Amino acid sequence: MNQEPFEEPKDEIIDMEHAVAEEILADVAYYRTLMVNVAFIGDPGTEDWVLVDCGIGHYAKRIIEAAEKRFGNIAPKAILLTHGHFDHVGSAKKLAQHYDARIYAHPFEVDYLTGKRSYPVGDSTVGGGLMSILSPFYPTNPVDLSKWIHPLPDDGTVPHLKHWRAIHTPGHTPGHVSFFRHKDRTLLSGDAFITVKQESSMAVFIQHQHVHGPPAYFTPNWIEAEKSVKKLAALNPRTALTGHGLPMEGEIFQEQLLELAMNFKELAIPKHQSKLH
Ligand SMILES: [Zn+2]
Ligand SMILES: [Zn+2]
Repeated sequence: MNQEPFEEPKDEIIDMEHAVAEEILADVAYYRTLMVNVAFIGDPGTEDWVLVDCGIGHYAKRIIEAAEKRFGNIAPKAILLTHGHFDHVGSAKKLAQHYDARIYAHPFEVDYLTGKRSYPVGDSTVGGGLMSILSPFYPTNPVDLSKWIHPLPDDGTVPHLKHWRAIHTPGHTPGHVSFFRHKDRTLLSGDAFITVKQESSMAVFIQHQHVHGPPAYFTPNWIEAEKSVKKLAALNPRTALTGHGLPMEGEIFQEQLLELAMNFKELAIPKHQSKLH
């Protein structure tokens, strides 16, 4: 874990031309930072857009580039975080500085984003794909975003996104939230569930789509995690973008999410941990 901060060799590997967001809906697009998605919400060309999550470190330039192609040289109205794990806030500081934007997170997550608390160390016995791929990006210190951070409102409303609600989905982290738009049942689930089997390097690389529980290595509270997946399944989302993996929609997605919600212990909880519950 105590690796030197990663330099930026990726600039040589990933051409800036490829920093293009993929559109899921007319006003929802995503950009993948290595293995972690960030989302852009807002119609192309609008001055009213919002960034959801900030990806791994050293991707600020590419996220800005992808955003510019969609919105021109316009800063987002806000940056929203599903949670504060390093792979979702790695570029947050640089982006907040560049855009001079407020960052919103659930009140229970704020201490982890202001350097006051650290997340528990992951359970390395359930490691694998994602964990090892991201290991060069593990930070040595907790992130401190005090200058920009604001708690999300208690009533579930989301600043600058009139039609969206923040849904508290703890388990993966205490203040994890998912963002949901009721009118077309669009869900950004962060890591409450994901669409790639993160314990498999192969699945992470070829991005084979399948609904899976939260990344096991980083999930300390499986009881809460199960409740959160059930809560999200009950919303009957039609389209989902998750923290890791490709977006999914329609019947196959809905069936798989329901299956995960109903058989969470068997499908999501690592074997040796499920005995504890
Ligand atoms: Zn996470
Ligand atoms: Zn993640």
